[in-house]
Amino acid sequence: MYNDEEKRTLEGVGAMSYKAIQMARGLVKPGVRLVDVAEKVEKFVMDNGFGLAFPLNLSVNSEAAHYTPSVEDERAFSENDIVKIDFGAEKDGLLGDCAVCIDLSGHYSSLVEGAEAALAVAISRVRPGVTTGEIGREIAKAIEDKGGRPIRNLGGHGVGKHDLHSEPFIPNYDDDSKNVLEEGMVIAIEPFATDGKGLVTDGDSCEIYQYVGPAQIRQPAARQVLEEVTAKYGSEPFAVRWLARSAQSKFSLYAAIRELERAGAIEPHPTLVEIGRGHVAQAEAMVIVEKDGCKVLTK
Ligand code: MN
Ligand code: MN
Repeated sequence: MYNDEEKRTLEGVGAMSYKAIQMARGLVKPGVRLVDVAEKVEKFVMDNGFGLAFPLNLSVNSEAAHYTPSVEDERAFSENDIVKIDFGAEKDGLLGDCAVCIDLSGHYSSLVEGAEAALAVAISRVRPGVTTGEIGREIAKAIEDKGGRPIRNLGGHGVGKHDLHSEPFIPNYDDDSKNVLEEGMVIAIEPFATDGKGLVTDGDSCEIYQYVGPAQIRQPAARQVLEEVTAKYGSEPFAVRWLARSAQSKFSLYAAIRELERAGAIEPHPTLVEIGRGHVAQAEAMVIVEKDGCKVLTK
């Protein structure tokens, strides 16, 4: 739970998180490189005195989450894309988390509308005493009403200090869970709608990692990368791209990352891909549960 000062900080973090995804929304256009959007928005947030709770995620088409541009990433948006922008600012260990979806193609508006309607109805149902299963049931219904399927192995979550994914899990369907929301909880609600099978799995690419604990590292280059990670990012998620400025080469940097992962010093957050290669829409907001409902923090 958060004290009053932390709640005020969280409102500022939420507002900056929302500002950042709106800025990204304005930049995402066919032909624009993903890396240019990510770097501009992340710089804007830092220039305003905030940290990054996690790298700007720009997940496209059947990528549901966790894609962030790689080092020297040449990838650009196309006019056929549906793009999820997911991001959170940070201050004093207090974290934001929110997302919007842009359909550049114009072909997936029912998925986008389903995810947005699901988020709206979920927010309207949040209050002390409601179970997470009930929230999930409303989310699934809103998505299905628009002809999509909810992604069942992704969902919302509590947001703790230095802990982006804390209890309770907020499912995107009625999973029968009886976890009860309580006044003062901060939760992120994130419906995902797809025209695929409704499940995600780990994809081939991984550009986001997180420090988990000390380990025996022999390679000097890998040791140096680990020192930079713990000094700059602590135990929050980071992008490999953020380390490129001080690396000798892209090749040696990714080799060091592999070594750190193998040794158990960092854990990977690979891109999550819809298993039927369906297109995916997402909406996300972070709210604080109040006596008679909730207040949206990411606005
Ligand atoms: Mn989230
Ligand atoms: Mn998110």
